[in-house]
Amino acid sequence: MSDTSGTGPTFDTTAFPPPLARPSGVDRAAEHRLDEAWLAAAWSHPKTQVFVVSGGQVLVEDTPDGRTELVMMPSFEAPESEVHRYFLGVDDEGVRYFALQKDSLPGRLDEAARPAGLREVGALLSDRDAGLMVHAVALENWQRMHRFCSRCGERTVVAAAGHIRRCPACGAEHYPRTDPAVIMLVTDEEDRALLGRQVHWPEGRFSTLAGFVEPGESLEQAVVREVAEEAGVTVGEVSYVSSQPWPFPSSLMLGFMARATSAEITVDGEELHEARWFSREEYRKAMETGEVLPPYGISIAARLIERWYGMPLPARR
Ligand SMILES: [Zn+2]
Repeated sequence: MSDTSGTGPTFDTTAFPPPLARPSGVDRAAEHRLDEAWLAAAWSHPKTQVFVVSGGQVLVEDTPDGRTELVMMPSFEAPESEVHRYFLGVDDEGVRYFALQKDSLPGRLDEAARPAGLREVGALLSDRDAGLMVHAVALENWQRMHRFCSRCGERTVVAAAGHIRRCPACGAEHYPRTDPAVIMLVTDEEDRALLGRQVHWPEGRFSTLAGFVEPGESLEQAVVREVAEEAGVTVGEVSYVSSQPWPFPSSLMLGFMARATSAEITVDGEELHEARWFSREEYRKAMETGEVLPPYGISIAARLIERWYGMPLPARR
């Protein structure tokens, strides 16, 4: 682990894509979203499964064999008076999935059920359940914040099983928005990693740098700009690794490895409080002593750091 060649060990993170990014096994079947007759039949289909989303939370339960699952029910058992009904897709076995957006989660559906958000359970759920949950939470966030037409100001109405909002006044159609953000693990010529602590983070929490893509900017340009702005480090080569939906409220995290062409750090003090270069040995020791906390397991940051570090990081939730 004391590699100084500049290439370093590469943990094959392609075999371990970030949580929330793996195929869910559910076909979103977007071709049915505008077909009211199909949607009505799908809703009353005996195989249909429904869960409730409210304020970014769903009900989950822990199974006796140690897994965590979404609490789902057939549609005839679903609580009534939802705010919106989202059609999320169909799986290989013909199960149709819907989410109901409600003002609150149903109480005492099941003794073992507990409310949970994506940060808490996103990495514990199966790929199917994580995919369904992140889809529903992203739609809910968008619905809550885009109730009015951005063109004329009129209140919009939901269409396409939750995937479009239409304006009855001017006819505009509004689609769910996704805000691209870049997140990057920067290494220097000694293959040390640049990790920073944001101003509102607790002592010891160091992670990759990240920032939103600006209008008219490529992803690569955003990586270079953000690293320069936050840490004063210049970056040359930039390569894409993988992405992760991050609906807090509507981001898509696009993960990169980037190579620094300068080493001197000057933090901006606005976003970053502190940034440091870590060799693998320094990073390992800092985690051992507790000086540095490993990143949260659900985050794509953890996967980028592992890619550099060369092995899985200790678990932290
Ligand atoms: Zn309008």
